[in-house]
Amino acid sequence: MRKKKILIIILALIAINIYFLARAVFSFSLDDKMRVIFFDVGQGDASLVMADGLNILIDGGPDKKVVEKLDKYLPFWDREIDIMVLTHPHADHVAGLIDVFKKYQVDEVWMTGVLHSSYEYLEFLEIARDSGMATRMVGRDAINRVSATNIKIEILYPREDLFEKTVDNLNNSSIVLRISYKDKSFLFAGDIEEKADAELCEKPLLSHPLEGEGNIRSDVLKIAHHGSANASSQCFLEAVKPEITVISAGRDNDFGMPSLRILNRLERMGIGVFRTDEDGDVIMETDGKEIKKFTP
Ligand SMILES: [Zn+2]
Repeated sequence: MRKKKILIIILALIAINIYFLARAVFSFSLDDKMRVIFFDVGQGDASLVMADGLNILIDGGPDKKVVEKLDKYLPFWDREIDIMVLTHPHADHVAGLIDVFKKYQVDEVWMTGVLHSSYEYLEFLEIARDSGMATRMVGRDAINRVSATNIKIEILYPREDLFEKTVDNLNNSSIVLRISYKDKSFLFAGDIEEKADAELCEKPLLSHPLEGEGNIRSDVLKIAHHGSANASSQCFLEAVKPEITVISAGRDNDFGMPSLRILNRLERMGIGVFRTDEDGDVIMETDGKEIKKFTP
């Protein structure tokens, strides 16, 4: 009986040690760095940005696969999403976020509040409203840009308030945001198509009503609309001038994404491409001077 007690105490001590060791290793590995993971969630979009103790989730993909990814990449003691961004209400971006609400504590949600009546979007809005979390409507509310730390978030699109408005094309209502860590920046282009793409590249220096000068130049670009041919114009890619791009698309998806036209365009321009359908989760880390990509 006594031996059993001693064994339990020893095991408990080992467990406590492992816990603190894991904590130390994890916090050390992200010390002075930003990590960005483009999750392989099939046909959809979901990316996680971790820096300065913040977890920022941009879209949630089409189902609960995003929760498996968060469980995998976030330490088990960290079940908090500081900022959740819904770029636009299509199911391949919003549906997984409903599952995230069930398992993670979400502090703040950023969205446009555009009108759309799909089941998934209405459920998302209901949870966000009833849970009492902070909701910020891009284009209407002041957005906390987290400028006190090394990380800077800029909302580059939409350039107008879409709250409770109907739009012709939901893809073009996508929030486009740039997240920078010191000198390195990542541009998340949502699902924008030609109209928004053209506005952003033809008037990149147009003064934005809320956020900075609207320059879209970035080191890494999450390609718009899963690599569809109706986005990523030559003009847009030249204005962003990325070193690396990431395409989030499902294996053998029904939409033929990414488009061969876009892949050829990127190759011609000498821009590197990673694809979640072929590479799985795409993980990048930056110290603010250089960007490293590594496999999980
Ligand atoms: Zn999409």
